[in-house]
Amino acid sequence: MPAAYESSLEYAQAQDQIDTLFPFRERFLFPQHRGEDVRYFCGNSLGLQPKSVEYLMNKELRDWARHGVEGHFRAGYPWFSYHHFFSERLAKLVGANKEEVVAMNALTVNLHLLMISFYRPSGKRYKILMEAGAFPSDQYAVESQVRMHGYDPEDAIIEITPQAGAHTIEDADIINGIKEAGDSVALVVIGGVNYYTGQFFDLEGITRAAHSVGAYCGFDLAHAVGNIPMNLHDWNTDFACWCSYKYLNSGPGGVGGVFVHERHGNDPKVPRLAGWWGNEESTRFKMQKGFVPQRGAASWQMSNAPVFNMVAHNAALDIFEKAGIDNLRQKSIHLTGYMEYLLQQITHLPFEIITPSEPSRRGCQLSMLFAEKGKEVFDALTQNGIVADWREPNVIRIAPVPLYNTYEDCYRLYEVLLGC
Ligand SMILES: *Cc1c(COP(=O)(O)O)cnc(C)c1O
Repeated sequence: MPAAYESSLEYAQAQDQIDTLFPFRERFLFPQHRGEDVRYFCGNSLGLQPKSVEYLMNKELRDWARHGVEGHFRAGYPWFSYHHFFSERLAKLVGANKEEVVAMNALTVNLHLLMISFYRPSGKRYKILMEAGAFPSDQYAVESQVRMHGYDPEDAIIEITPQAGAHTIEDADIINGIKEAGDSVALVVIGGVNYYTGQFFDLEGITRAAHSVGAYCGFDLAHAVGNIPMNLHDWNTDFACWCSYKYLNSGPGGVGGVFVHERHGNDPKVPRLAGWWGNEESTRFKMQKGFVPQRGAASWQMSNAPVFNMVAHNAALDIFEKAGIDNLRQKSIHLTGYMEYLLQQITHLPFEIITPSEPSRRGCQLSMLFAEKGKEVFDALTQNGIVADWREPNVIRIAPVPLYNTYEDCYRLYEVLLGC
């Protein structure tokens, strides 16, 4: 049914009234602007702090004070098994079995660790295929991996670009690119949602294409996790990694997460860098020689869990659990559709929305590409208590996040744009 949106404050407020997820915003702390909560459209960059973090952090500090080393087993959430507390909730977010996911390290580190396992070039199969315009950290990671194996990035990295005049990449072009490169491809790495355009790729189709040429396929889900429900297990994805400080609201530098499909995770022959935390748990503290990987993605862990960092993750994932990712997605589609509709009513500013308009090809981010005046408009938003995100050279990204953004937020943003 086409959404009959209206560009009025009354309409926006009425939508907020009937939004069953509206109360979830009460669980977050908002930065202040002239004594009021800002309208925060930057959850794709750094999510807001759940109010529960402070309490839980203090509780963890008390457990450390009270138990010292015994906290490994006696803390409210025993540190020895801390990573287990996330498995079930993370698995739901990405569509995996519990054993296929683990919270550990940080995103780029995890991308490297997974490429060590899944980028194993040999003979004429040595290339990595990725999307052009990937997040720089991913580009650096891929380039350096290729060099580590003695290849030249110019030759060994295939980038799929948008067609002439387009801003986003056709899924079919990625799939055809994979098929054309055939058995020269060792690995396909794609950012699930492109950070700049907000485009969500056909991850299932890309995985299938990669496998059809005998390549592995992995995704960086930094902008997809907590934004769009996924089915990594059923899609047969080999591996994925993500960060938790964007849509997952787990704080700056928050612990990352990985997915390794069970057919690899439970196969001890798949090479992985080892550390004691990835060892079989029953013998972890026996301090014996000879690494015995535990089952699943958890065997990619190396170091003991960064517990204080993970406290915020725990608090934030509880909120997702209560709200439900499918409910969030449903609201998100409608809310982002509303924001898009309002932006389409603006005719006096020189911008176009470069994010795909089909809900199935995007999450909650909209990227506005300005021919000129972009920075001026961005500054006006800031001065009016609206937190958006500026990307050089001329893009404003806005993310109406279903957990804490309102229809009124969208309307207020629109009002400021009208006045620009
Ligand atoms: C945010 C983001 C990163 C950041 O990497 P960190 O290792 O967490 O600093 C990397 N890749 C993508 C695609 C991102 O969106």
